[in-house]
Amino acid sequence: MRPHPCAAEPGRDDGGSDRREAPEAIPVALPTTGSHRTILRRRAAESPSVQWPLVRTSNEIREGYLSYFEEQGHLRRPSASLVPRADDRSTLLVTAGMQPQMPFFLGREQPPAQRTTLSQKCFRTVDIDDVGLDTFHLTFFEMLGNFSFGDYFKEGAIAFATQFVQERLGLDWDRIWVSVHAGDPELKLGPDEDAIRLWEAIGMPPERIVPLPSSENFWSVGGPGPCGPDSEIYYDWGPERGCGEPDCKPGCTRCDRFLEFWNLVFMSYEQHADGTLTDLPKQNIDTGLGLERTAQIVQNVGSVYDTDGYQLIMSWIAEQSGVAYGESADGTKAHRVLADHGRGMTFLVSEGITPSNEGRGYVLRRIIRRAAQHGLRIGMTAPFLPGLAETVIEQMGAAYPELVQHRAEITQVLAAEEERFAETLERGMKVFEEAAARGEITGDDAFTLQATFGFPIELTQELARERGLGVNDEEYTRLMEEHREISRQTSKVQIEVRFPDAPRTEFVGYERTEVLTAITAFADLGGGLFQAKLEQSPFYPAGGGQVADTGYIEREDGARAELVEALRLDADQELVFSGEGFVQGDRVKAVVPWSVRYPTMANHTATHVLHECLREVLGDHVKQAGSAVRPDKLRFDFTHPQALSAEERMEIERRVNERVFANLPVRIFETPIDEARKLGAQMLFTEKYGEVVRVVDIDGWSIELCGGTHVRSTAEIGPFAMLSEASVGSGSRRIEAVTAGEAFAYLHEQAREADALRGELEELRRQARKPAAKDEIDFTVVDKESNVLFVEAKDVKGGPLRDLSDRLRQQEKADGAIVGSVEDGRAFLVVNFDESLVRRGLDATQVVRELGKHIGGGGGGKPTLAEAGGKNPAGVRDALEAGKQAVASALA
Ligand SMILES: [Zn+2]
Ligand SMILES: [Zn+2]
Repeated sequence: MRPHPCAAEPGRDDGGSDRREAPEAIPVALPTTGSHRTILRRRAAESPSVQWPLVRTSNEIREGYLSYFEEQGHLRRPSASLVPRADDRSTLLVTAGMQPQMPFFLGREQPPAQRTTLSQKCFRTVDIDDVGLDTFHLTFFEMLGNFSFGDYFKEGAIAFATQFVQERLGLDWDRIWVSVHAGDPELKLGPDEDAIRLWEAIGMPPERIVPLPSSENFWSVGGPGPCGPDSEIYYDWGPERGCGEPDCKPGCTRCDRFLEFWNLVFMSYEQHADGTLTDLPKQNIDTGLGLERTAQIVQNVGSVYDTDGYQLIMSWIAEQSGVAYGESADGTKAHRVLADHGRGMTFLVSEGITPSNEGRGYVLRRIIRRAAQHGLRIGMTAPFLPGLAETVIEQMGAAYPELVQHRAEITQVLAAEEERFAETLERGMKVFEEAAARGEITGDDAFTLQATFGFPIELTQELARERGLGVNDEEYTRLMEEHREISRQTSKVQIEVRFPDAPRTEFVGYERTEVLTAITAFADLGGGLFQAKLEQSPFYPAGGGQVADTGYIEREDGARAELVEALRLDADQELVFSGEGFVQGDRVKAVVPWSVRYPTMANHTATHVLHECLREVLGDHVKQAGSAVRPDKLRFDFTHPQALSAEERMEIERRVNERVFANLPVRIFETPIDEARKLGAQMLFTEKYGEVVRVVDIDGWSIELCGGTHVRSTAEIGPFAMLSEASVGSGSRRIEAVTAGEAFAYLHEQAREADALRGELEELRRQARKPAAKDEIDFTVVDKESNVLFVEAKDVKGGPLRDLSDRLRQQEKADGAIVGSVEDGRAFLVVNFDESLVRRGLDATQVVRELGKHIGGGGGGKPTLAEAGGKNPAGVRDALEAGKQAVASALA
């Protein structure tokens, strides 16, 4: 041990701990005027008999820190809310102790005192999925801080930190290291000599002061604003935890021997938009001491989860589940997840956040559902989250009275969300296991798990990872976006009724798309928008699955306003336009462009035709479950228990087109509802119908009640092409299709792609027939499917065979290659996939295992590259054929 240059008094007896002598308080003159003559009160010299108790437990560390800084003239403040201030949109939740203090540092607001101290609640959403996997990731944590707003600077911050570390935490000074800013030519800054000098003066040996680059030791807001070098304090766990390299020190990337637990930020400069720095008029101090890490150090335990701060929670979990922490890998993960998320959810709800599908509510929902799933997994009996929260409140309620205050609310919200999830969790897990047994989680599976069983996508991804499976994110995202779009559309019409007494608008849109009329009611909404009523209107307001028309009104002088929204009011409507200069009484031409209306009509009539064809092909059980008719495509949801087969899809498409070519007349009329029933018209149970209904009759073959706009005969629909067929929750399917011009464009594009593929394949075959000159490997590209090559080779195996698969992929810009080879009477296979294919659900190890059966052998590897060998050379052809099918079905 090195003698401490500042140690003027002998070490106290602290019960046999490994404390070193405490240094005498360091007198430091204030840089500016202030009520304090010295930075540190000269306690030791004035009253040598007074002893400060060492802090050990988490609650003692928090309280010891705050009272220490209070003694040093800091105003103790409560933690700011976890929800950032309204003017701070940088994060969803507060992620750092200084974040709520920014308005003071930026000079926008007057701080309540020049010196403040507090324990800030923090929550890192980005780490949710990592919690449980290791010993240190946390979502919720506490950051202790002392702040100086134009008061003390580097010297004071270093002196306070040193005294607290030595005298309150009682840490072995020999184990403390610090880092300082090494300088940065880009910022035109040299090394932080001041900090080095001050650390040396206070007793830090030069070899334990480590200069680190800006990436580690320079703090800024990430743009113009205050910034400055910082200095981090590290604890050395000892060489036995290190990598053993001679240059092992703070910042070592090879090992975790050094644990950073306190960061002192010296806010010195203002960074300007051009990157230059100027001195701040008032220099500030911001520090952050991680409470959980500090507890881990003073309690000398292996992880934050082993500290006392989690013990109450961990033992409660063990008691409830019958599984001890550390008993099994799965159980350990569950313990950590429950302990961390339990704290997080308790604090989030205490802030008034409730579970939802957006923003902070979604963060809360995710951790609640993840914790619920992990709890059940280790045998806990629901509901257990309210009990978990009670334990958290018991542990932390004294420091955070808001927990005690909102106890009832917290347990209620958690109980309700846990119950909601429990109802579907078991069934969802079954659906997941079935999908997992098939070897992949499709986007459709992930979507169903979310939409029907309430599994946040992150939970599905985590479960998939645990089984070494991927999730088709692309497909999932597409389905979610469509789902959101429907929600948006149904919630879009939110304009309110403004003209309840104005005369009713006559809707003429069934017969015409253009009409000369007048504005009968008008209200300026500001922002270039106005709401109006027309005498006659061709605009179809959204209803019956058909979206609202787009269009415009135009005055004789050329002034024009675009239709923004249309509000349907029984048989009436109010409209919102974007435009200037219109007034009540204006004569206008109201127009729905034919290019908008015609494809909408074609899609709507096609929806009716599709509905009837589905019933013909699949059966009478098919019921409409929703539809969206738009100018660019149509979507039709219907009840049907399973996915359509390729044959069914083709048959449905064929029948719809057959009805188009038959040019069936579309007849529309109004009739009493009883008459419509006699005709056998399709009615939706959910819709309310008046006495007189509108009937859309396609040649007596399809009869539906419908208020939408339609073409005059089925021929006007033009070609019909199905884009997709997928699940939308249990027992419902969704078809998306295009008609008319869109369908023509789509089919044309498909044909062009097919041609291009055929051409490529021909070219590959031609090249393959030529002997490979360079390395004399004999191979033939026999096929290509979804940009994956299928290759037969001879007299090659192992490394050269792998190389061949790589080279061919490169040459042909292919996403994958499956190569079979025969050498010396044995068969070999290499499956080589690009990352992109793995992301789409293909796994080379699974494919090679499957194909290996054909060559009478087995194999393995990693998801991007796997190999197999076997004793049946005759099976290579079959293996390649099976590979082609596997690729086609996985990427379909
Ligand atoms: Zn190291
Ligand atoms: Zn309809």
